[in-house]
Amino acid sequence: MEVVRRAARQSRALVAGENNEVIVSTQQQRISALDEYIVRMPKVELHLHLEGAIRPATLLALARRNGVDLPARDESGVAQLFNYRNFHEFLTVFMVLARSLVTGRDFEQVAYELGVHLAEQNVRYAEVMISPVQYHRRALDLDEVVQGAATGFARAARERRVHVGLVFDYGRQFGVDLAWQLLESAIRNMKHGVVGWSIGGDEINYPPEPFAEVFAAARRAGLQVMAHAGEVVGPSSVWGAIEALGVRRIGHGIRSIDDPALVAYLRTHHIVLDVCPTSNVRTGAVPAFDAHPLRRLFDAGVLLTVNTDDPVFFGTTLCDEYRLAVQRFGFTASDLAQVTLTGARAAFLPEMDRAALVRELEEEIERLRAELGV
Ligand SMILES: [Zn+2]
Repeated sequence: MEVVRRAARQSRALVAGENNEVIVSTQQQRISALDEYIVRMPKVELHLHLEGAIRPATLLALARRNGVDLPARDESGVAQLFNYRNFHEFLTVFMVLARSLVTGRDFEQVAYELGVHLAEQNVRYAEVMISPVQYHRRALDLDEVVQGAATGFARAARERRVHVGLVFDYGRQFGVDLAWQLLESAIRNMKHGVVGWSIGGDEINYPPEPFAEVFAAARRAGLQVMAHAGEVVGPSSVWGAIEALGVRRIGHGIRSIDDPALVAYLRTHHIVLDVCPTSNVRTGAVPAFDAHPLRRLFDAGVLLTVNTDDPVFFGTTLCDEYRLAVQRFGFTASDLAQVTLTGARAAFLPEMDRAALVRELEEEIERLRAELGV
């Protein structure tokens, strides 16, 4: 009798084991289907700096070519530089490394390489920021800078399926007078692919309000506008960017979560936050992923996109950020589709092109989801 009972127990254990294996392998299939979806889905990236997206090998080669003395001799030396401890150190490293870029040809090369990288992430449309102040201060010809970058992105667009718009990201700590001067350069280069104007840099000591007239002039000239806000400063900075600068897209904006009235405003006025989770943790804007408000903002109905900010600096890619959204923040296939379509709808493109991009992505994502069952 005991033998029979033992045999029955063993057989039940066996069946339970098999069931577990079935469950585990179904889960694995679901995870690998979701990962394939992340890799293959056509994407949009709206918050990305050219200077933070240069491969270390290219940085070193450009520094050698231009006789620029970098505080790093080899790729591991460059990687060491990426171990900054706080946001200020990060900005400093960012500026130092960008010194390697000198000629239009340099900008063409880094833009082309970034275009190819984006295409490999299946990014169909991206907006890439350049930081004009430092080039201006080094007496580079900004027209040459922009046109070099535009040539590189155009080549990537011809060879791959990726379209890139350029945005001037003005370092607010350099003041309003210089902003006027560089805005002229942005406007002059609209025919070379400059689509937007933004402020970045030191958010703590330089609130947005003094730039109100610069932004109004940018809008009048036909540039689209955005601002870094609510990254390291609280809701007042986001309110200022919306009310004084008239932006409808905010770089980061994560600190909006501290003000329920602002969250409600963002939702009802369809203002988009371009969120960069890994960047926020790496710069110390949030202490850890667990403290990041991505999920809470999304659940509150705020329109948001997911971005890399500075993929090489932060050792990330857009696919990695999407994986992070799934693994750390519980985003579903449908949530990711919404994120990428929000990006397409918020793109600084002419109305017709934007509508075409939205349609293309909607159709392709729907087909892909049906094929992968996600
Ligand atoms: Zn940024």
